[in-house]
Amino acid sequence: MITMNGKKILVVEDEKKIAEIVKAYLEKEDFRVTHAETGEKALSLLKEGFALIILDLMLPDMAGEDICQAIRKDFDVPIIMLTAKSDEDDRIKGLGIGADDYVVKPFSPRELVARVKALLRRAKGPKDVLSFNGGDLVLDSTRFEARKKDAPVVLTPTEFKLLQCLAEHPGQVFTRLQLVNVILGYDFEGYDRTIDAHVKNIRHKIEDNQRNPAYLKTVYGVGYKFTGLPDED
Ligand code: CA
Repeated sequence: MITMNGKKILVVEDEKKIAEIVKAYLEKEDFRVTHAETGEKALSLLKEGFALIILDLMLPDMAGEDICQAIRKDFDVPIIMLTAKSDEDDRIKGLGIGADDYVVKPFSPRELVARVKALLRRAKGPKDVLSFNGGDLVLDSTRFEARKKDAPVVLTPTEFKLLQCLAEHPGQVFTRLQLVNVILGYDFEGYDRTIDAHVKNIRHKIEDNQRNPAYLKTVYGVGYKFTGLPDED
């Protein structure tokens, strides 16, 4: 059995009953739980350092999406979003704005705990060297270097940052605005066409077939995602 050794979890949820149940289930599994009823309180607590955040999408003071983005600006912590909205668009959006997983209400607390554990197992932190598709593409973040079929690929720092961000989260959809934030460190509307230009350049350098990219896929109406298959260690 995997033990969670008192890892700290922040539960952001305004519905007391739900928060209490989630807290009880998590504490039974040895987690230490802090509860915040508002987004503002949640943000003020972040500095305490949490292993994972469970975030309700519908809060009285702030939209869950905004909290999620605010957390992502400064903290690399896994986020599970609790949502009552269940249609596909909202799910994609939920993941696109930086949540790592989502659970639709009403949910089984047991399932939520299982997701928490799964996510914590996965979240071991990014590796320095990422390798994909049987070594076809390699990203070395210690040297800001990429290699395609063992040949060096010259990427600009911006292109490298973009590719690295996407490659560290295979399958996760990023909006153009999020990617702008990766490059500039802040949101800047109107910059998103530049993202398209960067992606086009990166594709030119790393894709065998730019019309059918193996790595950087467009998610229409949303943004981009990385679809390379990570190699085992
Ligand atoms: Ca709520």
